[in-house]
Amino acid sequence: MKTIGPVGIIGGGPAGAELARRLAEARIECVLFEAKPDRAKPCGGGLTPRAMDLMAPDVRKIAQGKSIFQIISRSPLDRAFSLSLYEPITVVSRKEFDDQLRRLAAEAGAKIIYRRVRSIERRNGVFLIDDQEKFPLLAGAGGFNCSVARTLSGPLSSLDLAAAVGYYLAGNYPPRIEIKFAAELAGYLWFFPGPSQASAGFQGPAHGFSMHHAEMTLKKFIERIVPGQVLTRRYAWAAPSLRPETFDTRPVAGDRWLLVGDAAGLCDPITGEGIAHALRSAELAARAIQNGDLKGYRADLEKDVLRELRRAAAMKAEFFKPWFLQLGHLVMSGSEIARDLCRRLAEGRISYHDLKPDSYRILPRALIQVLGSLLLPRG
Ligand SMILES: Cc1cc2nc3c(=O)[nH]c(=O)nc-3n(C[C@H](O)[C@H](O)[C@H](O)COP(=O)(O)OP(=O)(O)OC[C@H]3O[C@@H](n4cnc5c(N)ncnc54)[C@H](O)[C@@H]3O)c2cc1C
Repeated sequence: MKTIGPVGIIGGGPAGAELARRLAEARIECVLFEAKPDRAKPCGGGLTPRAMDLMAPDVRKIAQGKSIFQIISRSPLDRAFSLSLYEPITVVSRKEFDDQLRRLAAEAGAKIIYRRVRSIERRNGVFLIDDQEKFPLLAGAGGFNCSVARTLSGPLSSLDLAAAVGYYLAGNYPPRIEIKFAAELAGYLWFFPGPSQASAGFQGPAHGFSMHHAEMTLKKFIERIVPGQVLTRRYAWAAPSLRPETFDTRPVAGDRWLLVGDAAGLCDPITGEGIAHALRSAELAARAIQNGDLKGYRADLEKDVLRELRRAAAMKAEFFKPWFLQLGHLVMSGSEIARDLCRRLAEGRISYHDLKPDSYRILPRALIQVLGSLLLPRG
């Protein structure tokens, strides 16, 4: 093993486990701490085609799930359109995916300790974990409420968080993702069918989140898709949903520490997608640690992930406006060329930076198609 380490990694979700695997493969000693290996992280488990492409070959092999080629999206006023994907979204079981990622890390040589880390102190330039283990370098991978991030980078404000409530529904459901936007809650509802269960939930801004209202809306949504379900397996969680200025100012690395995945705030503020960014940040962090250049980590993240997420954060307020959602669904339901753009966005094949110019480019043809669909309704 190289003498850089040992690196302490707090949190064994996708970001932490992938960082541990990559460091161990590079012969850098590392110790991964995971608090709750028996629990699945509340998640839709959806992996876009782009997310699959970003994965290392070993990781792609374990990302087995249900392949979904159809998405139905509904506006707040119930105008719907259906998207047929060319490349599937793969819905995985988070319990299995995270277990397998940790198995790969262990096989590569990472040490895994199943324990909740309770205290982090810095003494004489070394990080002391729970008054026991010492690490010259620390990685925070503990999710949105990561203790390393809170201690070294500062806590996230509720204005930088999304809240989510959901249910798992056992069973094998038709391979179709359903989305519905809820304008009054500035968020959206989803139904993601996975290999042996579906995850249905609502996600919206944490600031001013009404759990009661969200849950009532969610129950109606589930009843419409799968009537008569008895809902027992509930979850409530939060996810980073950073404002543009927080992406600019919040440190993701410092003197002998760095953050990966949700701990670094790397969740898409519009869609909530985060697994791909967790894996990508782990790859960049492993490279920075190997090169002994933690400052370079921020620069690499900027080029790749941060630039895109900041753009999504800047678009978010407009995106969730009721008129925009209604107009968007009207255009999507009536125009094939607009649906094609949306399909590429859902597959992760178009960036937020390209979305505006591409929308303007197709606008004239899309409007003609919409007018045609309104004047000459099918059937
Ligand atoms: C409701 C919901 C639905 C989502 N759906 C999707 C989706 O469909 N597709 C997608 O791409 N993304 C989705 N996301 C986002 C995605 O779940 C996260 O971006 C992703 O899990 C981030 O991975 P991570 O490893 O950074 O953090 P996490 O997955 O949160 O992992 C953190 C790990 O750290 C451990 N930990 C925390 N503190 C400690 C400690 N003190 N000591 C030891 N261990 C600790 C936790 O037990 C956990 O295992 C969703 C999020 C939510 C909330």
